[in-house]
Amino acid sequence: MIRPTVARVDLAAIKSNFQNIVAHVARERPSTAPKLIAVVKANAYGHGAGQVALALEDAGADLLACADIEEGAVLRSAGVRADILIFGALSVSDLDGLFECRLTPTISTPGAAHAVQAAAAKYKRRLRYHLKIDTGMNRLGFRFDNLRRTLPDLLASPNLELDAVYTHFATADDPESPLFNEQRIRFERACADVTVMGGQPRYRHACNSAALLRDSRAWYDRVRPGLLLYGIVPPPLASTIPLTPVMTLGSRVVAVKGVRPGEGVGYGVTFTASQPTTIAIVPAGYADGLDLRLEGRGAVLIRGMRAPIVGSVCMDMLTADVTGLDVSPGDEVVIIGSQKRPSGEVDRIDVREMAAVVGTIPWEVVCRIGSRIQRLYT
Ligand SMILES: *Cc1c(COP(=O)(O)O)cnc(C)c1O
Repeated sequence: MIRPTVARVDLAAIKSNFQNIVAHVARERPSTAPKLIAVVKANAYGHGAGQVALALEDAGADLLACADIEEGAVLRSAGVRADILIFGALSVSDLDGLFECRLTPTISTPGAAHAVQAAAAKYKRRLRYHLKIDTGMNRLGFRFDNLRRTLPDLLASPNLELDAVYTHFATADDPESPLFNEQRIRFERACADVTVMGGQPRYRHACNSAALLRDSRAWYDRVRPGLLLYGIVPPPLASTIPLTPVMTLGSRVVAVKGVRPGEGVGYGVTFTASQPTTIAIVPAGYADGLDLRLEGRGAVLIRGMRAPIVGSVCMDMLTADVTGLDVSPGDEVVIIGSQKRPSGEVDRIDVREMAAVVGTIPWEVVCRIGSRIQRLYT
């Protein structure tokens, strides 16, 4: 059994995106090209963690990253063998999974340092970790300007071994923001402080997708793209890396209805026909992750044409104005992706466009694609 609304995930695209990012950073820095940390948190940005991670591993990824231990366990159950870095804070987590699933923790608070040291001692293991420095985002991480006070304890932990040091940028996608450069300089100073205190990390990393596109001085030894792997460029930036969108979201028309002038459509009858109007009913709604704000703003592709979404987006369906198009039940609907017109022209609605239409960011659009939508891998 399969619903008409499905997400197709192109695993060849994810592999080629990974390889094209590798080639891009190698072209700019041939002798010291950074390696990648492939970010697959949040179910691989809604694409399906296991399948995506295995494809990335196949493409050469040797280090993946996810949000928490539970996500790491899902990757291991899927058969992932590469190293897995956990980004999240671990002070209140069940830490057994770190050892049972061979995960690499981030230590970003003194509380996490104590908890992970105690767990490693219990398991009689020496555990490699990544140290996170807060250089201005004021979220997770040891404050860059306070390391001499906070780090000695951690560095002296008998069961913990410093593998890498990293930070995260708050404004990488804002070309005007001076904080980006400031964070980069603070990070370099913090790394020097770590060395002075006797820490000997093997490597450093800092760049998400936007930072990777923006400034090769921040690439260091590894870069951490998420969004770019999925073929989406973080707005408002542009990219010269050849990328292919990985996910398309499609459905099929389940009913077609004629509406007379003066009649309304849907909950609250927020759309009223001013002329004889044809409405296509599409079985995808907010329970599938589609945003209510698509009403009156967004469109779907049917027969290669944009059919405006009119009337309220419901839990399980939406309604689109297909007046003048020859539409029947069963016709293919593209919600995210491209479709060809009978004339041969191709139109596309990509995630970046959909996000702009509803006033959110592309990351949210893909992460919200509903759990009841089946992912089909090609
Ligand atoms: C999510 C995340 C990334 C990847 O971010 P994108 O903007 O999707 O490239 C990188 N680093 C950290 C710490 C993250 O949490």
